[in-house]
Formats: sequence, structure tokens, C-alpha cells
Amino acid sequence: MTSARGGIDLGGTKIQAAIVDDAHDVLGQSRHETPTTGGPQDVIEAMAAALEEAASQAGVQPATLAGVGVGSPGYVDERAGTVASARNLPNWEGAVPVGELLSQRIGAPVHLGNDVQVATDAEAEIGAGRPYRSLIGVFWGTGVGGGLILDGRPWLGRRSAGEIGHMVVKVDGAQCPCGRRGCMEAYAGRAAMEARARKLVERGAKTDLFKIMQERGRTRLTSGVWARALKRGDKLAVELVDRAVEALGAGIASAVNLLDVEAVIIGGGLGIRLGDPFAQRIAAAMQPHLFADDTPPAVHVAALGDLGGAIGAALLAGKRVEQPVG
Ligand SMILES: [Zn+2]
Repeated sequence: MTSARGGIDLGGTKIQAAIVDDAHDVLGQSRHETPTTGGPQDVIEAMAAALEEAASQAGVQPATLAGVGVGSPGYVDERAGTVASARNLPNWEGAVPVGELLSQRIGAPVHLGNDVQVATDAEAEIGAGRPYRSLIGVFWGTGVGGGLILDGRPWLGRRSAGEIGHMVVKVDGAQCPCGRRGCMEAYAGRAAMEARARKLVERGAKTDLFKIMQERGRTRLTSGVWARALKRGDKLAVELVDRAVEALGAGIASAVNLLDVEAVIIGGGLGIRLGDPFAQRIAAAMQPHLFADDTPPAVHVAALGDLGGAIGAALLAGKRVEQPVG
């Protein structure tokens, strides 16, 4: 057995795997698409394939890993090793025993955690959040996820804490992908921003967003597409991102008013891609909404970058190695 550990970040569009050593250095990594058809078994197979590729890069056999952590969307029961309500995964019915299935497939113990909390924990332990005892992780991507560290510990609530994307920033506001109205994600989530862009184009607005999307061989407005459009000064892209920044400012500031955390860590596809200038814009957009406006929290970009979810999942494997599932 090696001391290397595996981490898998299971997302609705991509599966990222990383092999890390004791110093959290990445020895191998890979990225696969998440199956959009089939069912749980196909997702398990894709996770195993991603892990095998990363392991082969690292020169280790998956079965010899000290453990493999998985950061998963949906409702994760860490003890039972199951994932339920993963709406972005194909034909995901009931509580799927991901821990057991994956462990059988790769031959190493598997540990599960909530994807966003895992990424937040990783930032707190070895990333941009290291100096702080309390922080909010904000993952600005397709949706807007959040994770909390309070007094040095993850705060999970009864199971659904950290849903910062669904802070209401406007009563009776825009429709959110969650079905409710006025959520921060309805303005700042990449999926909602794309839906808004498509609607405005139908109404005759001009933009290069969809041209850039096609040039880059994409079917969606990825973070890279948004970044490129901003660089070109595309008016619609600038407007929609400005609107997102305002919503993030109001929503995050409201959370800070409640919790008075020391720091806010901005991650996620868009957060990482747009980087520090936008983290500072979000900080500025928070300022007018902060009750204790003379002591704003520090705002940083996630230091572990795009691979943070997978690295965080690997940390999970290190911590819970006494109680493996499967
Ligand atoms: Zn919502």
C-alpha cells in the first residue's frame, strides 16, 4: 500500500480525479465528462476511469491507494456511503451506494462528502482560508454553491447548510433554477446567466457570446467563453457579469451580516477563471450591504483552483481512513 490518496470531484458536467501525496502535492490528475445518459453504474464507471488515468500518471495502482475520497453533489450520507437527490446525474433514483460500488470497482476504501463542503474544507485546511477560523466558501459556477467553516469546523446544519446561492437578493425577483424567485443564483449562476443571454438575444440584443461559444467548440457558455467575451468588451456579457457581481455582493454581504466570518473564499469555474480582479469587485459590491462596514471580511480567490474539489476529496480519504465504506 502507498500513502498516496485519490480524490474525485463528481460534477454534473465533469469528473475530475487527482492523486495526492502526504504533502498534498498532486502526482496525477485527469478530467472526464460526466455521462448524461445511462444510470449510476455508468457514472461509477466514469469515476473509476478518471481515477485510473490519474493513478497511471502518478505511477500507482488504484488498489494500493490508502483511500479514495469523493466529493459528490446531491444529498450525501457519509456514514452509509450513499448519494441521493443528485439531480444533475443520469437516472439517479433513490440512495445509490456509491461508496460500496466504487470501492468494489477500484479495490480501495472510498469515503464520501458533499462536493462544495469538501472544496471549502480543502481551502480552509491547505488553501486560501488557512489563516482563518471562520469563513464562507462561495463557488461561483453553473450554480452558486457555498460551504461554511465556523470556529475551525465545517458547519453542515441539519444537512443543507451553506446554500448561499439561494439567499434571496430580490423579493419576487428572477426565476432561479431551483424553482424559487429572487435567489442570488438566479442572477449569478452561469446557467441562469446563459438563459438570460439567450432570452435577450431572442429579443434582438447583440452579443458575441454565442459566436465565441461556437469558435471554441462549446455547446454552453462556459467560464472561458464569458472570460473571452469580457476581454473583448462585449456589452451584453459585461452587463450580465456586472449584474452577477451585484447579486453576489448583496447575497454574500447578507451572509456575512449573519455570521461575521473572517474571510470569504471565491471559487468555482467563473470565480477561478475571472480571478482576483473580480473577487475584489465582489468585495466592493458587498461593502454597501455590510452592517459592520468598518470591518469587512478578507476576500480571496480559492488557492487550489480548479482541482480544489478533487484535492479536497483526497483530504477526506486521509481523515476518515479508520471508517472506510465498502
Ligand atoms: Zn434558488
